Amino acid sequence: LDGLGLEERMTRLVIRNCSVLVVPETGECRVDDGQDIHVEDGAITAISATGTVQSAPDTEVLDAIGLIAVPGLTNSHTHSPMVMMRGAAEDLSIDDWFNQRIWPMEVNLTPERVRVGARLACAEMLLAGVTTFVDHYFHAEQIAAAALEAGIRADLAPTFFSSTGTEGREAALASAREIRGLAAGTAQEQPGRPARVTASLGPHATYTVTEEDLRLTAEIARAEGFRIHLHAAETEDQTQSSQERLGATPIEVLERTGVLDAGALIAHGCGIVDGDLPLLARYADRTAVACCPKVYLKLAMGSTTPIKALRAAGVTVGVGTDGAAVHNTLDVWEALRLVALTQKQRERDAEWMTISDTLRLATRGGAAAAGLTELTGAIEVGRRADVTLVDLAGPHCQPVHDPRAALVYSVRAADVVTVLVDGEIVVRDRQLTKVDLAEIVAEAKDLAHTLVDLSAGGAVQHYAP
Ligand SMILES: [Zn+2]
Repeated sequence: LDGLGLEERMTRLVIRNCSVLVVPETGECRVDDGQDIHVEDGAITAISATGTVQSAPDTEVLDAIGLIAVPGLTNSHTHSPMVMMRGAAEDLSIDDWFNQRIWPMEVNLTPERVRVGARLACAEMLLAGVTTFVDHYFHAEQIAAAALEAGIRADLAPTFFSSTGTEGREAALASAREIRGLAAGTAQEQPGRPARVTASLGPHATYTVTEEDLRLTAEIARAEGFRIHLHAAETEDQTQSSQERLGATPIEVLERTGVLDAGALIAHGCGIVDGDLPLLARYADRTAVACCPKVYLKLAMGSTTPIKALRAAGVTVGVGTDGAAVHNTLDVWEALRLVALTQKQRERDAEWMTISDTLRLATRGGAAAAGLTELTGAIEVGRRADVTLVDLAGPHCQPVHDPRAALVYSVRAADVVTVLVDGEIVVRDRQLTKVDLAEIVAEAKDLAHTLVDLSAGGAVQHYAP
């Protein structure tokens, strides 16, 4: 015991005199000017007109005049260490992207290279106002260490293919349990604070994992309270091939193996067909789909996530970047803008996917996709203080007739000034506070060539939809 009472140990902060983006569960978002956001021990305790609520004398004051406070964005689907392959697989078909580049490159993965990539990814995301990322990759305990170091919130799914046998499946499961244990340990050091890193189970996809392995994964997920994060129905081709090979769509496979029942985050779902919708609706309380449209455009996949139909079925939708080996950035502003544009185009309806709906997907939708509905995704009393302060003073945002429109269609990652995760200032005046960016970038540049080297031959997997 250190002799301090709980009262003394409490950390207090007020974000003074900002505008606040209010994202309701339904309906239009609004912006309230001249607000103070009061934070105690990482939780939002009050939001009040500036100066109307007195702060305790030991309160840290973060002056936010002229800035807009936005709920921290969630990157709902990514493979963070793939930043190491940025720009190394361009102008390729989806088959060649996997078979000629990515899966041969991933032969080179080591825990150290994954850690270096994850550190760079965490830095990029925090500086862009992303406070939570939902990750799916190998050596995920290294990603957990990078996330904890930088202070970003993360849900991590250690990935496996059935081609790696029982051993691969068991190792991924052991990694998920290890991350959960690590998170419980760090949470114990700060009682009352929820773990900043959580784990999910990460079978790669319905086309690389057998039904038997999906069934076993779903059983463990239900027994141990994990969610399942995987790729499914990524393209219309995959859905057709699944029907021919297995007599069922990828979504029907997820249903009959118990994955939907256990609770699933489905990456992409561009190949979801009308017949899948009643199934998804039945499990809507625990199903989410991540939409990453830059990837669909770049790989010429021909379709995008049917968000309108999914929302009508009650399914949560989040915004993601997928890995930077195809998306090139982990910039959720870029991703949410492309969600709005591609959805308007898909539905041929300029009135669909409004600015309010788009902001809701990237905040509340992302939080729900990460399994963190109660914790993050909105600036509201009782939630953790995951807040991004954005400056709309740039010429690309001025004059501001509607700040919500600026956030969807004009803002760039570089407009993010200060970022809080769990009430902790992790970016202040465009600088990371917990890690050294120059060191992280230098380390990544040193190691980058080792990841894209194809001289070893072989591949971790073969893509055949
Ligand atoms: Zn992916």
